[in-house]
Order: sequence, then structure tokens, then C-alpha cells
Amino acid sequence: NDTNTFRATTKLTCEYNILCKQKGTESGRNRRPHVNQFASSKDITYLFSCLTGYYARVHGVNHLLDAFIRKTECHCQIINLGAGLDTTFWRLKDINLMPRKFFEVDFPTVVARKIHNIKTKPPLSKPIIETHSTDSLLLDAHSLDSDRYCIIGADLRDVSNLDEKLKKFQLNPELPTLLLSECVLVYMTCLQSSNLVHWAAETFHTAMFISYEQVNMSDRFSQVMVENLQRRHCTLAGLEACQSLDSQKERFLKTGWEHADALDMMTIYNMLPQDDVARIERLEFLDEKELLQQLLQHYSICWATKDKLNLGLSQLAF
Ligand code: SAM
Repeated sequence: NDTNTFRATTKLTCEYNILCKQKGTESGRNRRPHVNQFASSKDITYLFSCLTGYYARVHGVNHLLDAFIRKTECHCQIINLGAGLDTTFWRLKDINLMPRKFFEVDFPTVVARKIHNIKTKPPLSKPIIETHSTDSLLLDAHSLDSDRYCIIGADLRDVSNLDEKLKKFQLNPELPTLLLSECVLVYMTCLQSSNLVHWAAETFHTAMFISYEQVNMSDRFSQVMVENLQRRHCTLAGLEACQSLDSQKERFLKTGWEHADALDMMTIYNMLPQDDVARIERLEFLDEKELLQQLLQHYSICWATKDKLNLGLSQLAF
């Protein structure tokens, strides 16, 4: 759908720009490379592998997220931690699967950019206005609060401030809650991410946490991934927790979650509806799969649950 296409295009543009920058610098001219420099099929395969990996990630995360909302019959709330420019709220509105309230948190600068986009683009603002019942829509540079959608500027490493801000915007600890973090925990130290997932376990009695992160980060391939990320000035303070699927699960099991599971993205990719996978592989001209497999083996989805209301959350899986 449109929102997924938007996210995938953004991702592809981002990867393409990084490759351009690398190639431009390699050529010594420090500018956008000529198209001939992309003649190497390795670069093209890399771009298309990233995009196919992105498809797997979106479908994998959505599978669990939608299953949670259905299980709670929409009587739930979602908190997207480090949401960036994510568009899940609009997708859920499109498919008529809206939680009671959808919260997003990111740094104030990122939030300000997103609020500006929402304000200036009717396809983004309209669904928020449509699902709001009173005149009192709060909108300033660093927060937006409506009946069903709320975006807050906060640092996830400061858990008490995060808690205070979410409660100010009517977070309801009694409601089944889904917490989502995609490529976010790796930017924090292990202690900081543990504090965050511990806060979530303490705050909600019935909840699910979905975390998409790097995994198996100790081989040669992952060194290249890390170098690429560092070139983008990313400080990956939490890489230590990305050693194995077990370390991903432990982060939750040690902090009050009752049940945790984790799979690498290659396994999840093989579990997706294979006719759709074949359609995507044709779209991405993906005849060379080795790089894709390597990429997918280095990402994972870990999900954890606690279930005082006995909704059967621990059965949610692939
Ligand atoms: N989750 C989004 C997605 O999948 O499209 C964005 C992922 S992006 C790689 C990581 C996001 O986490 C960025 O938007 C960044 O600003 C946010 N982030 C990282 N550390 C954070 C922190 N301590 N507090 C708030 N946001 C943070």
C-alpha cells in the first residue's frame, strides 16, 4: 500500500545516497558518481537485497502487531518507541484496525520534523482530524495530541521523564499495550535498553514488546555492517546485546517479561506467504540471493509478553 511504498522508497533512497557518497569519495571527486560506476552488479544486488530485507521486516513486524490488535479486539494502545518517520498509524487506519490510542516517541528534533510533515500534508493530517472528536487538538512544535494519535518528543534513556510525558497524554496502564521498537535499542547501552524494557514490564500488566534489531553481530559480514553504520555517524552503544537470539530474549526475561521468543529474519522470510515473496523477488530482479540471505541472518525480531488478563498473548507467533 501507499504508506509501505513510501517507507520502502525512503529506505532505498537512503541506501542509494550512502552508496553514492562512498563511490563519489572513492573516485576522489567527492561528488555524485556517474551511473557507470554502478555497473557492478554487486552494488545493484546490495540495493535490491536491502529493499527485499525491508519487505521482510515490514511484513514480519506487521504480522505480530496486527495479531495483537485482533487478539485485543482493538481495545488496546500502541507505543512506538523511536518511531522516526514510521507510518503504521496511517496503515492501521486504512485497514480499519485502530487501537484506542497510538503513541509515538522520538527525539524532539525528529518529532518536530514529523509534525511539520503532518501539518503540511493533508493525506497525513486528515486521518488524525477524522478520528478526533473535540475541538481541543493539541499541536505545538514538539508534541501533537489527538484522541487516537499522539506524538511526543522525549529521550528514551530517561525513563521517568518518558513515563511522565506519556501519562500527561492519557496513557492508560490498565489497557493491553503493545510496545514497538525497530532499530532503536541498538543506539542505547545495554543498561539503558534494559531500563526501558523493565519500565514497560513494570508499567503494564498485559503487554507485548516487539523489537527488531541486529543479531549475530560477531562475524566478518557484521563488521562491514557496523562500519557502514558508523560511516553514517551512528553510535551503536548496544551492539553487545546483539550477539545472539538468546541475548535478545534475555533482555526481556531478566526484566520482568513472562515469555520471550526470537527468530532471525531469514527464518521469518521463509515463513512469509511464498507466492507474495516470489512476486517481490521478481519486482526486485532478485536472482542472486546470497547477499540477501547474509543480510537477513543479521537481523531478528524478538517479542515478549506478559498477560495478566489471560488473552493468550504468549501464543502470538509466526
Ligand atoms: N523505528 C523507525 C523505523 O523503523 O523506521 C526509525 C528507526 S531509526 C534507525 C532509529 C530511531 O530511533 C531514530 O528516529 C532515532 O531518533 C530514534 N532514537 C534513537 N535513540 C533514541 C533515544 N534515546 N530517544 C528517542 N529516540 C531515539
